[in-house]
Amino acid sequence: MSGPLREAVVDLGAISANVARLRAVAGTPHAMVVVKANGYGHGAVAAAEAALAGGADWLGVADLAEALVLRAEGIRAPMLAWLHDPEADFRAAIDVGVDIGVSTPAQLEAVASSGARARPHVQFKVETGLSRNGLAPEDWPAVFRRAAELERSGALAVRGVMSHLSNASPEDDADALESFRSALALAEEAGLRPELRHLAATAGAIRRPAARFDLVRLGIGAYGLSPFADEAGDDLGLRPAMTLRTRVAAVRTVAAGAGVSYDYTWRAPAATRLALVPLGYADGVPRAASGSAEVWIAGARHPVRGRIAMDQLVVDVGDTPVAVGDEAVLFGDPAAGVPSADEWAEWAGTINYEIVTRIGPRVQRTPR
Ligand SMILES: *Cc1c(COP(=O)(O)O)cnc(C)c1O
Repeated sequence: MSGPLREAVVDLGAISANVARLRAVAGTPHAMVVVKANGYGHGAVAAAEAALAGGADWLGVADLAEALVLRAEGIRAPMLAWLHDPEADFRAAIDVGVDIGVSTPAQLEAVASSGARARPHVQFKVETGLSRNGLAPEDWPAVFRRAAELERSGALAVRGVMSHLSNASPEDDADALESFRSALALAEEAGLRPELRHLAATAGAIRRPAARFDLVRLGIGAYGLSPFADEAGDDLGLRPAMTLRTRVAAVRTVAAGAGVSYDYTWRAPAATRLALVPLGYADGVPRAASGSAEVWIAGARHPVRGRIAMDQLVVDVGDTPVAVGDEAVLFGDPAAGVPSADEWAEWAGTINYEIVTRIGPRVQRTPR
């Protein structure tokens, strides 16, 4: 194996296929693929292109800077950004056709008076239970009336109303759905006719048909991972897009009793062959997985020994003939026999989302 020392190989065909699959499952007229946080760590531009090739007709990002990067890279698809700096200047984003997610009365006014040349399109993000950044229910009537007024004056157009589910339980999601419906009714009463009503992310798109409305927002599923604890990606017909790999940097045999890595949390019970793998927590490999993680080298999975360090970790390769330069795969498609991002999440006490999104900047993304 040759190539960059640290590499996240990104299977763009898998992203396209996952999007096509989820779009078919949801059956909605529109599908947005969420490419925030550098495309969940996969590379935002490449992920966006693959998503569009797979049938997405919208892209979603958290903030304006993410949207502007995609536009600067030539991505022309409809795009929405929904989490803003309190002092955000919306003008540049509006002028390149980015829809603004609006969560406060002040944001609505800021959009209306942004000075943009283009007519702004807004999508209201309403609070329906998560207690995060949606427009508060007590603000709905007045803000919707104000938006209708601004729409009549030509200052902006309201394209959508959206919210987000907690996935806490079917009952909690049903409550959120009911709350969302009342927001839609109030918007209508105020004279708004939002063409995009959307509530479901990947989990809702799959398990909450009533939450699908006009568009689903696909994040984790587009990257081939499952949002559920009780069903893996392949149960859902998805293929993980990211393979995190490197090459063995050193091999040594240590004597019985030798301590391994900081704090000697593991000591060799007998003479042991160890492979040094040059990926660490600075690259997003969770230190919390020390002591339970496994790495694939030379056709088999082997346990990580001792603490995962900033740049490196140590693997006990047993009797497997491992040589310097051999490929080491931390995670990828479990169908290939390598550990999955789900397993790393379990080893680290977190979720697969965190495993892929935290892969660091030293790791080269290689589209395949
Ligand atoms: C991140 C995000 C999504 C995507 O969620 P997944 O669970 O990854 O599908 C959808 N909608 C909003 C508002 C988000 O912030």
